[in-house]
Amino acid sequence: MESQDTKSRGSDRKPLLPYAEALSLLESRCKSFAPTVAEVSLPDALDRVLAAEVALDRDEPPVRRSAMDGFAVISSDGAAPRNIIGVLYAGTSGLPTIQSGQAMAVMTGGTVPNGADTVVPVELTQREGDQLLLETAPPANKHVRAAGEMGHKGRVILKAGRRLTAGDLAAAASCGASKVLVYTQPTAAVLATGDEVVHYSETPGLHQVRDSNRLASQLQLQGFGAKVTMDQHVPDQEEALMEAVGNALDQCDLVITIGGVSMGDKDFMPRVFAQCGVEFLFHKVALQPGKPVWAGIRGNTIVLGLPGNPVSSFTVLELFGRLVVDRLGGATTSYPRPLRYGTTTTELRSHKRPRWLPCFLSGDHDGTELQVTPCQESGSGDWTSLAYANALLYLTPGSHLHAGDRVAYLPLANP
Ligand code: AMP
Ligand code: MG
Repeated sequence: MESQDTKSRGSDRKPLLPYAEALSLLESRCKSFAPTVAEVSLPDALDRVLAAEVALDRDEPPVRRSAMDGFAVISSDGAAPRNIIGVLYAGTSGLPTIQSGQAMAVMTGGTVPNGADTVVPVELTQREGDQLLLETAPPANKHVRAAGEMGHKGRVILKAGRRLTAGDLAAAASCGASKVLVYTQPTAAVLATGDEVVHYSETPGLHQVRDSNRLASQLQLQGFGAKVTMDQHVPDQEEALMEAVGNALDQCDLVITIGGVSMGDKDFMPRVFAQCGVEFLFHKVALQPGKPVWAGIRGNTIVLGLPGNPVSSFTVLELFGRLVVDRLGGATTSYPRPLRYGTTTTELRSHKRPRWLPCFLSGDHDGTELQVTPCQESGSGDWTSLAYANALLYLTPGSHLHAGDRVAYLPLANP
C-alpha cells in the first residue's frame, strides 16, 4: 500500500486531486458492476432504474380521435347546413362513416368517423333539431388527432438506465406495461465514527455532539436510490472500526464511513481501510468543504470515507455518493451533473479550492433567473446551514461575486 493509506502528518503537501478526476476514477471502477434485475409493478417502480426499454404496444392513438367537443364534418361541404346522424363519445366503439351533407357529434377523445376530415368545435356551431348550422366553411384537418401521431407500435418511450419518475411511469402505463424490469438497488452501510458522537435521541454532554450525519447519509443514500441495510456508530478504536468495516464490506455494495479521515490523532480510517484489504483509489480532493475524502474498492464494494463535519459529509456524499449509487444500480445519468445558473443575493468568496455551499433557491414565474441565497454558514461544522438547503452553489477557486452576479449551482434532487 502507498503512503496515502497510512495516516500522514504535516509533511503531506502533495497537490490535491481535482474533483473531476476523482469522480471519473470512481466512475471507472463502478462501471464493471452488473446489477441483477427484478420485475416490479408500476407503483413500486418509482425512483428505480429501468433495466429494459418500454415501447408502444400499439399505434397511438390507434384511430383518429377528436381533440375537441364538437362535430365531425366534411370540410368540402363548405358552410352548408349538415344533417346530424349520431354522436360519438370517448369510449364509443365502432367506426361509422359519414357522407357528404352529414355530421356526427363527437366528444373529446371520441373516434372521428370515416369520411370526416375535420372537427368544428361546439362553440362555433348552432344546432336546430338534427340540423347543424355553421357560420363559415370549416378549415380541413382541425382538431383531429391523427392515428399514430404520438408514435407507431414499437416506438421506444423509455430507455434502460433511466431512474423512473411519476411521468415515466404514467407513460409506461399507457404503453400497456403493467410491470417493468428494474435493476436491484445497491445496498449501503453507514458507519459513524467518533467517541464524541451520541445518538440524536440522547442528551449530549457538553463534550459531545449529536449524530446528525448518520441520519443525513442514510436519507441521502435512500434518495439516491440505495437500500441502507446497515448503520451503526463505532467508537474511535481500531479493532472496533476494523470489525465494523469488515462486516460492512462483506454485506454491502457501498460502505460509507463518517469521520476519522483527517489529520487528527484518532483519525484511523485510512489505516483501517488498508487493513481490511480495501484498494486505495484516492485521499484528499481539491474541494471546500470535503478535502479529506477517502475512496477505495474491495471486490465489488466501493468505500467512501467522508470527513465528519456535517456540511462536509453532506456535500461529499452528494458529490460522490450519488454517482456511485447510480452506477452500481445501473443508472446511466451522466456525470459530472450539469451546473445550472442563478443570481446570488449576497457577496460570495472562495479561496484556493473550488467551493460548494448549501444554498436556497427561490424565484417566481416572471422568467427571471432563480435567486440563490447561501444558507447562513460559519464553516463546514455549521449544521444549521443544512436546514432549508435545496441546492449546492459552486464557486471556482479565487471567486469574488457580488449580489446580483450570476452563480452556478447543483440542485439537490435526482436529475
Ligand atoms: P472528524 O472528521 O472525525 O475529525 O470530525 C470532524 C468534526 O465533525 C468533529 O467536530 C466531529 O465531532 C464532527 N462529527 C463527526 N461525526 C459526526 C456525526 N456523525 N454527526 C455530527 N457531527 C460529527
Ligand atoms: Mg472523529
